[in-house]
Amino acid sequence: METTKKSSKDTLITVPTEKELAKLIKNEHISNSKKETKKRREGKQCIVRELKINTSKLSKADFRHLEMLFVEAKWLRNAILSSEQITEFDTKIKVVNGFNKDREEELKPINFLSSQMKQSVLDQVMQDISSLGAAKKKGRKVGKLKFVSEVNSINLKQFGSTYKIFSDDDRIHIQGFKKKLKVFGMEQLFPQDAVYEFANAKLIKRASGYYIHITCYVMERLVDTNRTILDSVGVDLGIKTTLTTSDGDKFDIKIKESDALKNAQKCHSKKKKGSNNRYKQLKRLRREHERVEFRRKDAAVKIVSFLTKQYAVVYMQDENIKGWHKGLFGRSVQHSALGTIKHRLICAGSVVLSRNAPTTKECFVCESHEQLTLLARVFKCSECGYEEDRDIKAAKTIQLFGKAGKYLKVKSTFGTKETGESQKLVGEEVSRVEESLSQTSETCVPC
Ligand SMILES: [Zn+2]
Repeated sequence: METTKKSSKDTLITVPTEKELAKLIKNEHISNSKKETKKRREGKQCIVRELKINTSKLSKADFRHLEMLFVEAKWLRNAILSSEQITEFDTKIKVVNGFNKDREEELKPINFLSSQMKQSVLDQVMQDISSLGAAKKKGRKVGKLKFVSEVNSINLKQFGSTYKIFSDDDRIHIQGFKKKLKVFGMEQLFPQDAVYEFANAKLIKRASGYYIHITCYVMERLVDTNRTILDSVGVDLGIKTTLTTSDGDKFDIKIKESDALKNAQKCHSKKKKGSNNRYKQLKRLRREHERVEFRRKDAAVKIVSFLTKQYAVVYMQDENIKGWHKGLFGRSVQHSALGTIKHRLICAGSVVLSRNAPTTKECFVCESHEQLTLLARVFKCSECGYEEDRDIKAAKTIQLFGKAGKYLKVKSTFGTKETGESQKLVGEEVSRVEESLSQTSETCVPC
């Protein structure tokens, strides 16, 4: 017995060939560099920058390449979903099974996707499965993953390999393309007041064109000494007035659905289901939706940028905007981009007060509480007689609470995960934590 054991042990040691040894060394190298990167990025702010590909400068071949990437990603994803062993799916595959227009089986060639992109499609499926599992654990009813009719994003895993940035001539190279692609918005990646480290990116297909979302880590913030920064400001979000500051500035966003959008919707609903014309109209409809969305986003970005440039610290309250949206004020919330403003202010590092801080009720002069109806626009204290506009007063109270460190929701405010964690520390009810988590876990739009 002993001898056989020994011999098997011996063979185990002697077996690794040169090839296997090289693989082992490579794997260790990869895991080491992963650890290093993780350590370097710890506690750094993570932001996403959006670039748009200038398709007017593309050759016909390159444009087709770009289009086919998304088509092939769809084929591959559906093939992965239909395979029996998803975990053992071989992404080196060159041809996948699919269906043609008449629902007959057909072989689809994968010519344009690079091996890293194929791997990332598989990774995405695995991630989707695990998030379904997580939802199931929480007690939510879940089904299986369904086949998709389109894929609109492809992960470009590695900066320097899957994609490269050439800042000198505003171009980006994506693996597999013969030429570099001209992009708009390159200047965002090299701001004057910070140094970015680039992580992964995503190639996005939208009705208005092709985009690249680049994840950046802010490694160093260079302080601009010329700018005079005011101390701090309290900010009150509301439905009547979108945003009010403690200094009395009022900002209002009310961007309704455009007529073009309404027409496109009407036109789309009239087209025959499943027809080519309906599909074409859908594209137009999506484009109109994007236009309105962009106008709202632009207004929100301008307000947030004004606040963060003017003031060193922004205090705000964790308002239940999702709740407002579900309730009586759905339309006004939708027209006002309140969610975007809140999300961006949090991303920019503002100090957030807990949802149950009595910022509307409490008089900050004598600390007595006053009941106000939704219609009352002026706050009047029955104890000390203090009188002020309702929203400005709320913003001032938020600022005072924030400065005094009362009702604080979080200590550090980078990222959405930490928001949830530290809220638990404050010790609020579990339901409230879950509610706010589901609110903050909305897809992170590029800031
Ligand atoms: Zn009072």
